[in-house]
Amino acid sequence: MTRLVADRPILKMTSELGRVMAAARAREQAGEKILHLERGEPDFDTPPHIVEALCRAARDGETHYPDQRGVLALRHAVVEKLARENQIRCEPDDVVVTNGGTHGLFLVFQALLAAGDELLVLSPHWMAIPKLVGFVEGAGYRSLPVYLDLLEGTLDPAGLEARLEQALTPRTRGIYLNTPNNPTGAVLRREQLEVLAEFAAARGLWVVSDEAYEHLLFDDARHVSVASLPGMAERTVTVFTLSKSYAMTGWRAGYVVSPPALRAVMGPLLAFYTTHGVFPSVQHAALAAITGPQDDVHRMRRAYEERRGLLLGGLGVGAVQVPTPRGAFYAFADVSSALRGRDVWALVDEWLGFGVAALPGTAFGPEFGARVRLSLATKREDVAEAATRIRERALAAAVR
Ligand code: PMP
Repeated sequence: MTRLVADRPILKMTSELGRVMAAARAREQAGEKILHLERGEPDFDTPPHIVEALCRAARDGETHYPDQRGVLALRHAVVEKLARENQIRCEPDDVVVTNGGTHGLFLVFQALLAAGDELLVLSPHWMAIPKLVGFVEGAGYRSLPVYLDLLEGTLDPAGLEARLEQALTPRTRGIYLNTPNNPTGAVLRREQLEVLAEFAAARGLWVVSDEAYEHLLFDDARHVSVASLPGMAERTVTVFTLSKSYAMTGWRAGYVVSPPALRAVMGPLLAFYTTHGVFPSVQHAALAAITGPQDDVHRMRRAYEERRGLLLGGLGVGAVQVPTPRGAFYAFADVSSALRGRDVWALVDEWLGFGVAALPGTAFGPEFGARVRLSLATKREDVAEAATRIRERALAAAVR
């Protein structure tokens, strides 16, 4: 029998999210109603002026092979946005427009990692990271739990530095960081980023900063880009996406800003040979998103914040506890007292049985088997209803 799938580790990796979504779908097909708190997919439509910009550009003939680095007008607008919002100074040639953040991270890991290298991944981390690293055959990663402690205030700068030091191996080449963080909602403060930056500089490491949720901040949380700290621009690659800020997940639009040393590799080589750039009309829509009114960004941010309140209020002080997220649109719930000796998949199945889809914590690192991620990117009524069901079921189980 001819072997069709090549014998490579990456091709054997499976998706926890895929497994939960398939189980939810099977129940829906059987007529059950499922509240979808498993996915990070904004339920809002893309703002109309962005849609209009796409249509206009397509009608104007923006339909040809793009510059693989991205439409120049968009890269100029990105440079201005980076200076204004992120305090990152760069040239249009340091920006590459990508098919979303996923593609951006793929390119970055391809550019920076080789066989034998290790990436230090602050965790819990977005579940795609191991796969994206895995596309560099022979490269590895090491998960280093920090975000929950940073969110809960139980890790001071000295503790953070000690933890980084302990996780370092001779193979470590760089650090992957994600603030605001998926799945905990931790937003790293300047002084925490300074520890990281100094550590990276002293050990000769590069930093990949994933800022997919930069605009989704709650209360008084402020977003700081690590590349804006002194001396960091030359060793940091920052990945952005329009997916979350503008409810544009399906458009596949994002961008990467890298040090000039990567110019020859990112655009002409990696972007060119992966997708040959991004559909130019989409790039004109991205330009409209970045340069146009930001009211919708604020409206959606406020909606996620309101849902956070509904989730936390609905769960109450019961068996399932959530450290209050300061950004992004997830809550990383502690389910240790609801597990009752079972593994987290058994709990996820039980919750599906009462109509709530959640993602097991193990998707975000092997250390998180007593957690589930609950997404706020779903209708407010569904968030509130899910919280009530979780609380009532957990109570019922506790008295059983
Ligand atoms: N980074 C993080 C932390 C994410 O959660 C996501 C999407 N869930 C992405 C990057 C990439 O998103 P996209 O490819 O839609 O831009």
